[in-house]
Amino acid sequence: MPIPPARKVLDGIPPYKPGRPADSDDLKLSSNENPYPPLPGVMKRATEALERINRYPDAGMTDLYDALGKKFDLPTERFAAGTGSVAVLFSLLSAYCEAGDEIVYAWRSFEAYPIAADMTGATSVRVPLRPDATHDLIAMAEAVTERTKVVLVCTPNNPTGPAVTQEVLESFLDVVPDHVLVVVDEAYVEFVRSEDAASGLSCLLDGHDNVVVLRTFSKAYGLAGLRVGYAIADPDVAASIRKATPPFTVTDLAQAAAVASLESEDELMERVESIVGERTRVRRALISQGWEVPDSQANFVWLPLGDDATAFAEACAPLSVRPFAGDGVRVSIGDPAANDRFLKASAAFRA
Ligand code: PMP
Repeated sequence: MPIPPARKVLDGIPPYKPGRPADSDDLKLSSNENPYPPLPGVMKRATEALERINRYPDAGMTDLYDALGKKFDLPTERFAAGTGSVAVLFSLLSAYCEAGDEIVYAWRSFEAYPIAADMTGATSVRVPLRPDATHDLIAMAEAVTERTKVVLVCTPNNPTGPAVTQEVLESFLDVVPDHVLVVVDEAYVEFVRSEDAASGLSCLLDGHDNVVVLRTFSKAYGLAGLRVGYAIADPDVAASIRKATPPFTVTDLAQAAAVASLESEDELMERVESIVGERTRVRRALISQGWEVPDSQANFVWLPLGDDATAFAEACAPLSVRPFAGDGVRVSIGDPAANDRFLKASAAFRA
């Protein structure tokens, strides 16, 4: 008897191919991770949580929601956490979208978007970025139809780097009908330094109840391996996301580390500041080497290399960077030594 076929939609989803593994973590500039090791206080709390792994985690995520409520001065029912913001996005889309619906997003943007969209059965509507690698929110607003359920706005945009401006986001929200959820993916928000950058959170709190903000502990907080992300939304939206999320997914270990990180935010943000300093240094150096590099408000830079993308990434070995074949290469900001090595490789490629 033949085994049952999986849903047709999976035929269009390529199997996950991990990038070329780096010989050491110091050489890995391909996943936008934080190069700093966990803070001792965070390690301590996570280790304490290990002592009770015979028990299920707190499915209500009480301490985490309380800590987030305190950080943002918001009621806890506005949050919905999951195993990374990508999992929260999957829950959100499965809560709101089905076959016949449309999900609008810019392209190129975060690679999980088409997969998460396809899995719901909804149709992806991709709107090209502008030539300067920024979102075209005018074209995205024009792409909205009565079938559109969700628009995804990634700011700063992975993998290209620029942030949407507040003015542009507000104009967009003013024209998009209220039946459309606007997901503002702020995975890299802590690295933003541009003064006119958009804040999805301020739009949500200013009365745009259809805005959902996605945040993560994976980048600025350095907990990528523990998998914690969350949405901030209207309480009804947050409740729907929570319902669509399997229970017990965020471990006590991860919840404890996330809470401890929020308590050590000042120290973590000092590290973010040095990553931002390195980003500025790397981008300036690349520009003086003659590369075209769009503005980056995140912890990576983008080189729009077109057909040279794969060859460039190979030439960076043993550093691991992230090529997008035929389009460009994304290089995460690492520690200063790794960044220096990368700049040597980029100079050698140009020579
Ligand atoms: N959104 C964007 C734009 C990202 O780049 C990433 C990570 N690469 C995520 C969300 C997911 O982060 P996580 O699932 O680790 O929270």
